[in-house]
Amino acid sequence: METHFSKQQLKDKDNRSSEKILRKCVHCGFCNATCPTYDLLGDELDGPRGRIYLIKDMLENNKPANAKIVKHIDRCLSCYSCMTTCPSGVNYMHLIDHGRQHIEKTFKRPFIDRFIRNLLSIVLSNSTYFRIVGRLTLLIKPFSFIFPKKIREMIAFMPINFPKKTLPRKRIYPAEKRKKPVARVALLTGCVQKVISPQINEATIRLLNRHGVEVIVLKNIDCCGSLNHHLGKSEIAIKIFKKNISIWYDEYLKNGLDAIISNTSGCGTTLKDYGFLFRSDDEFKKKAKKISELTKDISEYLEENVKLNFIKNKESNRTYKIAYHSACSMQHGQKIHDVPKNLIEKTGNKVFEIPDGHLCCGSAGTYNLLQNDIAKKLLTNKITNINKINPEFITTGNIGCITQIANATKIPILHTVEIIDWYTGGPKPNILKRLF
Ligand code: SF4
Ligand code: SF4
Repeated sequence: METHFSKQQLKDKDNRSSEKILRKCVHCGFCNATCPTYDLLGDELDGPRGRIYLIKDMLENNKPANAKIVKHIDRCLSCYSCMTTCPSGVNYMHLIDHGRQHIEKTFKRPFIDRFIRNLLSIVLSNSTYFRIVGRLTLLIKPFSFIFPKKIREMIAFMPINFPKKTLPRKRIYPAEKRKKPVARVALLTGCVQKVISPQINEATIRLLNRHGVEVIVLKNIDCCGSLNHHLGKSEIAIKIFKKNISIWYDEYLKNGLDAIISNTSGCGTTLKDYGFLFRSDDEFKKKAKKISELTKDISEYLEENVKLNFIKNKESNRTYKIAYHSACSMQHGQKIHDVPKNLIEKTGNKVFEIPDGHLCCGSAGTYNLLQNDIAKKLLTNKITNINKINPEFITTGNIGCITQIANATKIPILHTVEIIDWYTGGPKPNILKRLF
């Protein structure tokens, strides 16, 4: 694609990178075929090619965003299905991030939208605030009818029961039965995940410890920053990124880290992008690149570094039918597709991919809260496709998808790591205990 950025505009690092991305696009439109919003809405501007044109026009002509542009860019899920399809290697992820930052700087959203986005930015990225708001939601739920539709939908979606943790809170979780661990890793415990599903981190820690890996949970690391990054709130996101990078890098230098483990694929995608985000920052460039290199999804880490010790349990003579939902951030963002599925197959159970598995379930970070109507349609389609398999339970590697899918089906859904933990000596996951 021809571009017309001026020399002055190209002094800006983000313009420089977006120009390179735009030049790779050959307008072929293949990406539209796998875009969930184009598939649902059928409008060129609700597909990747149309959005690329909208962003190009804003950036190249230094135009402020307007309501029409914002509508179509906001409808993008950032699922990156278009990146998997694109034959020219267009990095749509970096382009839409830049587009969103430009919108945030140049467009004043209506009051209610600003209020909701600011609320999400503050509450979801901080586990303490999230817990408090969860308690308050319990009180206001009976009166939710007095609020505007968007707030009502958020109240309906807000979890109000938070399961108790079973592992004590520690900085270091030592490897079992060994003086010297085979590896030392830091775990990103996440912001929302550790509150609504603490069993995911617990299964991760138990599983790694049992296989000789020491796990470190560093204080003051809460959110990975992706939530604010995708809301276009780059200043807040950068502050979080820098804090995380400094804490992990310091630990890496002082005590050594073999990996940084993410068990939420949405967060892992952003951690792996820290290197790019700080590419022009003299102070953080080297550190951010190292953090990205160290980051591994838990499935990736297990596959590459751990010889899993599957053991016979009470379930060993029974074969479950499991549906594997590949989160967009896992398959399109991190390009990890078969690894989690192969790991579950090693448990002896039957794993099935969901038809049209490349399409998003509608979760997409805060998308199900901000674009509820589209998210609901995507969720309905996902459930229809899951039902075609008729599984006994569903598994995936992203808390957002777990929460979204659980809202629309009675079929239990759990994180992949919970299954691996269970079949290597951990407890049977609670959600399955209640059913089988
Ligand atoms: S990221 Fe997803 S929703 Fe957005 S344009 Fe690409 S395929 Fe469509
Ligand atoms: S598939 Fe790639 S090259 Fe073709 S229009 Fe989409 S982004 Fe551009």
